[in-house]
Amino acid sequence: MKQQICILGSTGSIGTQALDVIESHSDRYEVYALTANNRVELLAEQAHKFHPAAVVIANEQHYDRLKELLADEPDIKIYAGKQALDEIVEADPIDMVLTAMVGFAGLPPTIRAIKAHKKICLANKETLVVAGELICQLAIENHAPIIPVDSEHSAIFQSLVGEGDNEIEKILLTASGGPFRTFTHEQMEHVKAKDALRHPTWDMGAKITIDSATMMNKGFEVIEAKWLFDVPADKIQVLVHPQSIVHSAVQFRDGAVKAQLGIPDMHLPILYAFSFPERLTLSQPRLDLFKTPLEFFEPDLQRFRCLQLAFDAIHKGGNVPCVLNAANEIVNRAFLEDRCGFHEMSDIIARTMQRVAFIKNPTYEDYLATDAEARKVAGEYVSQASM
Ligand code: NDP
Ligand code: MG
Repeated sequence: MKQQICILGSTGSIGTQALDVIESHSDRYEVYALTANNRVELLAEQAHKFHPAAVVIANEQHYDRLKELLADEPDIKIYAGKQALDEIVEADPIDMVLTAMVGFAGLPPTIRAIKAHKKICLANKETLVVAGELICQLAIENHAPIIPVDSEHSAIFQSLVGEGDNEIEKILLTASGGPFRTFTHEQMEHVKAKDALRHPTWDMGAKITIDSATMMNKGFEVIEAKWLFDVPADKIQVLVHPQSIVHSAVQFRDGAVKAQLGIPDMHLPILYAFSFPERLTLSQPRLDLFKTPLEFFEPDLQRFRCLQLAFDAIHKGGNVPCVLNAANEIVNRAFLEDRCGFHEMSDIIARTMQRVAFIKNPTYEDYLATDAEARKVAGEYVSQASM
């Protein structure tokens, strides 16, 4: 029996690479459902190629166009809207859900998938940033495994295979440092979205590429690691490693450090999330260690203030990481559209974190309300931004 996969966000960077992986292992995996937000033509193209049982377009305005494009595929069920997206993950035949949507929008369908006891291949890190505690609790209650897709977390996960109950002494979380790694604070003042979108080692969607330039992405990954591996933040060390070859490592109580290395390419962590504990063939280029010197530096929390804000959010806990995420989504979009400057992003996030009321033990409804409030507050600050 082939494993049935639902891809949330199939038209994105992770989604399309996941389809490459499925295509090259079509004896094992089959696409059950594909979803997108706006890129309706690409979604239809994917549906023609992979013949899923269902497709969902989150933005309802594209429903008619999608129906038109798939008029020759009567067996494919076509849905539109957020509700349909949240529901599709529950379909009985689905074995695995790859969460490759961007941002807070990934939270509701991930919760539905966990409650439906699906295996979660988690790329959408914002889910754990916003509601890590709730997600982990639900995953345990519903016996839904969560396998990381994020390259660093996949590396940590791979390093932990065979370690049983051996305690983690420290996680070494690597970061490329992004395109502004060597820039001064003053130089960063003048950078624009087009500069931030030129990532030195990874080819990813726009939102995460901007998050990498501010290093908020690494802050999110510290939070993600804390929840996935049940390790406090003070045992997670961020190392700037410009070559992105050591994808992360784990240090144990005897001093041993285990890492996973490879070229910067998401096909491997996607495939590993699907096939774990097995390893399947992947014919991407191989790592040549003669070619690349490996360097490691301490991150500069003053120049990359977003990383510091993420650590602050972890220490405060409660709904603060949710505020951090929502404010970041607003400023990230504003920076992408040249509506706010580079340093204004961290300023606005910091001010939003101070303004939104603290909730110590948030419920799901509290997260929804916090997200809405933080977006509103950050949006006000963006409209007053200097650019
Ligand atoms: P992309 O922007 O490339 O793709 C996002 C996908 O999600 C698209 O299919 C998009 O649809 C869909 N989508 C976006 N917003 C919504 C919404 N509100 N409702 C429904 N669907 C939506 O992102 P990436 O693939 O780069 O990233 C996906 C996730 O994986 C993120 O959480 C990111 O942090 C994480 N990740 C990504 C990595 C990478 O290498 N790209 C590495 C590690 C983690 P449409 O195309 O129609 O807009
Ligand atoms: Mg990563």
